[in-house]
Amino acid sequence: MLKYKIILLGSGGVGKSALTQRFIHGSFSEGYDPTIEDCYQKNIEVNNETCQLEILDTAGTEQFSSMRDVYIKSGDAFVIVYSINSISTFNDIQPIIDQITTIKDSDPAPLIIVGNKCDLDDDREVTEDLGQLLAKNSHCSFIEASAKLDLNVNEIFYDLLRQLANK
Ligand code: GDP
Ligand code: MG
Repeated sequence: MLKYKIILLGSGGVGKSALTQRFIHGSFSEGYDPTIEDCYQKNIEVNNETCQLEILDTAGTEQFSSMRDVYIKSGDAFVIVYSINSISTFNDIQPIIDQITTIKDSDPAPLIIVGNKCDLDDDREVTEDLGQLLAKNSHCSFIEASAKLDLNVNEIFYDLLRQLANK
């Protein structure tokens, strides 16, 4: 069976846990527990083949870059999340991408940049064009999503699976 480990990275509060919960359980909670860090499994069918996804929802690793090294080494593909209503979370992304690129130098890993909380358009601080530009310069995918409204959440994971299949 195909097995892939997908890792979610990004600043605290951007919605990594909410996206994971939405994808795994189809639910959303307004609550925020920044300490939750867990690994989830989900089997999905791709081209008539069962594929086992292991999804690691990380927490608080941004302060400990060496800890992030350990995660990155173990990952097959990465979801890098910012929140469209916070430019500082967007600015936090480039160093994460650089770290992944350095560590996966000999075997580049599929990446997708996710602008989460796109339901908060009235408070938007990051334009869609800016997200798209960063993705283009980093040679990775980009999507805006909302864990709250269930917009584009499955698409995040299907995009990575497509990239993994084409590797
Ligand atoms: P994490 O630290 O990256 O894991 O962030 P969480 O998933 O815990 O989310 C932080 C807060 O943002 C929580 O209060 C969530 O309910 C909220 N949140 C997460 N995703 C969305 C979203 O798509 N839209 C809105 N409006 N709020 C969200
Ligand atoms: Mg979390």
